[in-house]
Amino acid sequence: MKKIGVFGGSFDPVHVGHTSLALYTLANAGLDEVWLMVSPRNPLKEKGPVASDSQRLEMLRLAVQDLPGLRVSDFEFSLPVPSYSWLTLSRLRDVFPDCSFRIIIGGDNWADFKLWKNPDLICREFGVIVYPRPLQPIPDVPKGVTVLEGAPQMEVSSTEIRRLIADGSQDSVKRLRNLLNLKVLDYITSNNLYKR
Ligand code: ATP
Repeated sequence: MKKIGVFGGSFDPVHVGHTSLALYTLANAGLDEVWLMVSPRNPLKEKGPVASDSQRLEMLRLAVQDLPGLRVSDFEFSLPVPSYSWLTLSRLRDVFPDCSFRIIIGGDNWADFKLWKNPDLICREFGVIVYPRPLQPIPDVPKGVTVLEGAPQMEVSSTEIRRLIADGSQDSVKRLRNLLNLKVLDYITSNNLYKR
């Protein structure tokens, strides 16, 4: 049975925090692969994504193409929107019977995990790996949940990246080069994404 970590997100855009998290989890949580899965729409985010589904998928492909063990998936594109993780995991189990699946989430997602649909089912039948995020305590960890204590914490978010792009100052552009894969940065520039 191949052990797969499913790392879902808006990836609007994918940043180095996402790829570092995926690589660290792959190396430290006994997984064979991590599948980075673009969610068409997160039911708990007030605003929908800025970039289209296919643009976010393409950026993800550019960001992970040279990273062994990481795969990009558009599996949720064929599921009802918004995407609910319990349904995604159940369908994955049906389609890939030789794989076992658990989800990977950041500490901010753990904070509202109880608001997700069927959180107990997700813990019981699949499992959750939580990666710490700055300023996010991770309390009340039940059975079926693994916290990657001691993993390096990363001060970066897609919101900050969109803000830096809209700002467009020289300082912001410099900072972006450290927070984004350069092929992703080129893609954003050539497609005029996230400009004010
Ligand atoms: P936004 O700022 O638009 O809300 P985001 O940076 O949180 O975006 P998402 O695509 O919403 O990125 O996140 C996908 C997953 O990655 C979530 O589980 C989130 O918790 C996790 N994640 C994103 N950035 C980090 C980070 N710096 N540290 C830990 N987890 C992170």
